Amino acid sequence: MYKRFFAILLAFSLLFSAQTVSAQSSEGPIYIIQAGDTLWDIASRFNVDLDELIAVNELEDNNLFVGQEIIIPGLEGVSGILRTETVPYGDNLRSLQRRTQASQKILQRLNRLVSPTELYAGVSLIVPVDAETPPLAGRISLKKGETLLEEAVLQNSNLWTLAEINKLSSTSLALPGETLYAPADEEAKANANGLPAAFRSASVENLPLTQGSTAVIRVSTNENVKLSGSLFSDKEYALQFFPEDENNFVALQGVHAMTEPGAYPLKLIATYPDGHVESYQQMVLIVNAGYPNETISVPSEYLDPTITDKENAELLAVISQITPEKLWEGVFVNPSVYEDCFTSRYGNRRAYRANDGNSQYDYDGFHSGLDFCGGTGLEVNTSADGVVVFAKKTIVRGNATIIDHGQGVFTGYWHQSESYVSVGDTVKAGQVIGLVGATGRVTGAHLHWEVWVNGVQVNPMVWLERVFP
Ligand SMILES: [Zn+2]
Repeated sequence: MYKRFFAILLAFSLLFSAQTVSAQSSEGPIYIIQAGDTLWDIASRFNVDLDELIAVNELEDNNLFVGQEIIIPGLEGVSGILRTETVPYGDNLRSLQRRTQASQKILQRLNRLVSPTELYAGVSLIVPVDAETPPLAGRISLKKGETLLEEAVLQNSNLWTLAEINKLSSTSLALPGETLYAPADEEAKANANGLPAAFRSASVENLPLTQGSTAVIRVSTNENVKLSGSLFSDKEYALQFFPEDENNFVALQGVHAMTEPGAYPLKLIATYPDGHVESYQQMVLIVNAGYPNETISVPSEYLDPTITDKENAELLAVISQITPEKLWEGVFVNPSVYEDCFTSRYGNRRAYRANDGNSQYDYDGFHSGLDFCGGTGLEVNTSADGVVVFAKKTIVRGNATIIDHGQGVFTGYWHQSESYVSVGDTVKAGQVIGLVGATGRVTGAHLHWEVWVNGVQVNPMVWLERVFP
C-alpha cells in the first residue's frame, strides 16, 4: 500500500519539480537524490566526472539529502528529470521510447546499451522525463464506486495496461479520486507495448525476480487464442495459465532457490484456432537472494541416495498432478503455534554431513522450507483450503502431509508425531491436521513447512504476507 502512495507522491513531485527546474535545463538534466545515493554512485551511474559533478552543483561537502535536485553535467541534448525505472516485461526500446518520449539514442547513451536486445525485463534503466512533453497525456480519475476495470472499459483501454502504467501492484488498489494515466491516444495505445497482436498486454510482477520467489505472470489476450509459455532457468518450466476472466490469464511460477543469477528467457505463445502461432520472448532478470550457508549433521541412512532419490521422486510425482480449480483464498494461515519463531529459514545453502563420518553420503543442497520453533505435540494447521494428496510415513520427511490447493500450488508439513488426515480428505484453512514431532531426518522436533508452485519449492514466507496471484 505505502509503495503506491509513494509512487503517486513521486509522480506529483516529478511533475511539480519538472516545472520549477526547467530554467536549469540548459546546464543538464536533473537527478533527484534517492535514499542510499552517494555522489560517487551517481557519477559512476551517469558516467560523469566526480569533480565536475561537485563543481556544477556547487556542493561543498558530500551531504546529500533525499529529494535534493542535482544537475548531471556532460549529457548534451538530454533534459528534464532523470528517473530510475525497472523495465517491465513486454517493453522494448521502441515502446519505452514512445512511453517516455525520449529518443532511442538518449536511452541507449544514458544506459550504455549496446543493442536494443539487451533490454531485459527487471533491469533498472535511467529514463529522462521531459517537463515539456509528459509521457502519458491521458489523465483519468476514478469516480466513487467505480473500479479500475470499469474505467478501463470506459477508456477503451486494458485493465492490466492501466494498472501497469500507473504502477499499481494490483488492479484493486486504485482508489476513487486518485489520478491515473491512460495511454494518450489510439496510436499510443496500439504501441503501448512491444507485443504481437494476439497479446493485449503481459506483465511480470515484482521485477527483478529473486531466487526462491513466486513469479506472477499476467497475460491478456485477444479472443480465440490459446495461451502457453515457458520460463527457462535451471530447467524449462511450462507455465500453467489459468483464466481470471474471459481474456485475462495468470500463471504462478516458482523460481528455484539454486538458480544461477542472470537473465533467462520468458516465452509466451498464442495459438490461433487455425493453428498459426504468435510468440513473444524476452529475457527476465533473476537476482541473488543472498541465502546464508549452514551445515547439518545426521545419520548416514538419511543421506543414502538410494533412499532419498526414491522419496524425492515419489513426492515430485504427487506435486506434478495439477488440478485446475483454485481452492485457496487470501493470505495463507500460519501453520505453526509459534508464528514468528524460526530455527531455520527457506533457501539456506545446506551441507548435509553424515555424523558417523561416512563422507560418501555427504551432499550439498538448500533448505526447501521454513522450520518453526516449538516441539512435540504442538498443533499443525493447514495453510489454506485444499485436498490431502499425500499422507504417510517417509524416511527423510517422517510423517509427511501434502495438501493440494489447486493450480499447481501445494503445501507440505514434515516430521509430524501424529497425522489426523488421509489422502482424499478435504481440509479447510486453519484446520488441525497433525502434531509436531521429530520423525525423519531431523536434529530435533520441529515443524518443517514448505510451499510448492508449479513444481518448485518457493520462499513460503511471502505466502503468509501477501495474496497470490
Ligand atoms: Zn526444514
